[in-house]
Amino acid sequence: MIMSDTKKVVLAYSGGLDTSVIVPWLKENYDCEVIAMLADVGQGEDLEAAATAEAVELEWPTDEALDSLLLEAAEGTLVEAGLALVGLARALALRARPFLDAARERAEVGEVGPTLLGVELPGETRVEALDLELRFRADRVDRVDEHLVVTDYKTGRPISKASTPKTRRKNLLEQLLRGSALQAAVYAFSHSAPVAQGRYVYLNPEIEENCAIASIDADDDEARSCFEQALARVIGAWRSGSFFPRLLDPRGRPFSECEWCAVRTACLLGDSGARRRLERWTSEREAGESPAESNLLELWRLPLEKLEPRK
Ligand code: SF4
Repeated sequence: MIMSDTKKVVLAYSGGLDTSVIVPWLKENYDCEVIAMLADVGQGEDLEAAATAEAVELEWPTDEALDSLLLEAAEGTLVEAGLALVGLARALALRARPFLDAARERAEVGEVGPTLLGVELPGETRVEALDLELRFRADRVDRVDEHLVVTDYKTGRPISKASTPKTRRKNLLEQLLRGSALQAAVYAFSHSAPVAQGRYVYLNPEIEENCAIASIDADDDEARSCFEQALARVIGAWRSGSFFPRLLDPRGRPFSECEWCAVRTACLLGDSGARRRLERWTSEREAGESPAESNLLELWRLPLEKLEPRK
């Protein structure tokens, strides 16, 4: 961000939540003109262009080359983080290696011929019912027959560890309904290109193979309905400005996402009085007295959503 005396601000705009929120904040706090700058730094084409491109053969680096790339990346990460501990880069690189091996094995979609169209490709998904356009950047895009498979790599826990496909699907739909696993659905329902499937590929080698991929097909109406129900509640709260700190979840448990929150130090998180007030206020009300309150309560209860269709 560059600021000058003339009160004109140039913001390096990523399109993400943080830079989107800061645009009105800058206007309100500095009374200045904000110029959002988007730059092409060589990230390549988008999903639409990839759909008509030739698939490329993925040249996997040799073991030696891969280890050296990993070490280089680990050293760069540590420099960025300001950490200079001897041997830590090597340890990080060693720790990451099995995840890359899993990426190689698990993310392949075809047995014959090249399928890879690109990585880090932007795309869009339109949700007509909400008059909403969502933008995303996919980790990997492949072509299978005439359709695309759009992949998001994950390093954390899988959506479901259930042993049967039926239960794994139920867990996936329930997560969608609760608004906590929307990415694969955003990919699957993209209008940028003829997408057949959006999917998560889990890279932790300890995850069993049958749970390592969770996917949503573009023609999955049940998944689409869960996705749109969750989005309607999130976007309803967003549009009415019903933001509140997630000091606990509706079952009274701490919110695990807080662990990774960038504004955690400025949050009311440790304020037990605020937690009690939020708990009391939400438990005393069935519906809000204004649209903003109702939307807040809808969002508050989102994690309790069950798979049965809502009345
Ligand atoms: S720490 Fe972050 S995620 Fe957690 S309640 Fe506060 S603002 Fe929300």
